Amino acid sequence: MSKCRSSPQHEGVLQACEECGLVTPYIEPKPGYRAHCPRCQHSLQSALTTPFQPIWAYGIATLMMLGLSLGFPFLSFSVQGLSQEASLWSALISMHYASNSLLAMLILLCVMILPLIYISFSMFIYWQAYLVQQGKTIELKWLKPWSKRVFQFESWLMADVFLVGILVAMVKILSLAEVGFGPSFWAFCVYTLLLVKFVSLVDSSWVWDKLTPREVTPYVRVGESHLQHNHSVCPICGQLNAIDASECCRCSGPVHKYLPATSMQAAWAFLLAAAVFYIPANFYPIMYTTSVGQTEASTIISGVVLLWHLGSYPVASIIFFASIVIPTAKIASLAYLFRQAGKSNSPEQTIKNQQLYRVTEFIGRWSMIDIFVVALLTALVQLNELMAIKPGPAALSFAMVVILTMLSAITFDSRVLWRQSFSTNR
Ligand SMILES: [Zn+2]
Ligand SMILES: [Zn+2]
Repeated sequence: MSKCRSSPQHEGVLQACEECGLVTPYIEPKPGYRAHCPRCQHSLQSALTTPFQPIWAYGIATLMMLGLSLGFPFLSFSVQGLSQEASLWSALISMHYASNSLLAMLILLCVMILPLIYISFSMFIYWQAYLVQQGKTIELKWLKPWSKRVFQFESWLMADVFLVGILVAMVKILSLAEVGFGPSFWAFCVYTLLLVKFVSLVDSSWVWDKLTPREVTPYVRVGESHLQHNHSVCPICGQLNAIDASECCRCSGPVHKYLPATSMQAAWAFLLAAAVFYIPANFYPIMYTTSVGQTEASTIISGVVLLWHLGSYPVASIIFFASIVIPTAKIASLAYLFRQAGKSNSPEQTIKNQQLYRVTEFIGRWSMIDIFVVALLTALVQLNELMAIKPGPAALSFAMVVILTMLSAITFDSRVLWRQSFSTNR
């Protein structure tokens, strides 16, 4: 099945850019440097100055901070003599009991479980690469399926979005109650910063190059791309494979051909589903606030207007951008990009489209802020008749809009934007 041969010195080894499909010679970046695609400037590999120690040091520190942010009081607040203290864990449990299990699950996954798996697995795979460097033989078989999935978690690690959500939620209840931060809150801030740093250090392509050398693919030439239909790219390790290969000659993971129609169908399906959820997300209340016996419903827009009238301009602006501008712009720009697929645009226009895609993919997760705010307020503000907050039907619809647009952007194969050969480029 495999039609490639090993080349430990990387001689004659080629790689294809994940974003634009351009085939270039593989050059191992020097320590401290990053290799970019010459056509679309996508980062191909980065090599750390000291490859292994920072991963383990940051990994252990991040996990410790995650532990600390669970164990102690997170937030406390008091209204008219009644005070309440909550740990992050108890907040999630009370969210679950406030018939909000799906939101609690979502937070548990994006803020704790996925980061935990991502960090542990990354530390482990870097350790395996270290063993290989020490001349030891390792078992790659079970690393492969995990590697594929775990490195895809990256855009779902949302501790930073959650932290902004906490701050917005605090400002929202500041006018109603006195708020205090416990030791776990500060641990969580450090955890967020360390996690962002950790994710920036991990490079799945680099670590695979250390685990097992890339193979030579004599049937592909430099300057070719997905348009020649003479190779498939392994989604796990980045190895080029023969077009008829069903498994990767390097990591034996499943290899899929470049099938623009199939990826476009899936991307459109997610986007249309998101557009459908967008309607109830805006028209139904996202939150019910009960204060001194009176219950008031608020939609996303009425919440922003109220905050603006109360003079909380920065928070009103954050919610306005995260909940109204970003989702609308994301749906519109994805629809625009999907319509551009397969068109023969000028190189300048193609680069602009690729940049639009990168921005769209990057900012999408920040729309989750309002969902986290509602979930937090529900969990924390439960003072019986005096004051209570419940999520409305729009909360779940809005979460679905964010998740579906993220899935749509991830499913979209941006190579469909690149229709011209490299020589016509600048
Ligand atoms: Zn590229
Ligand atoms: Zn592979």
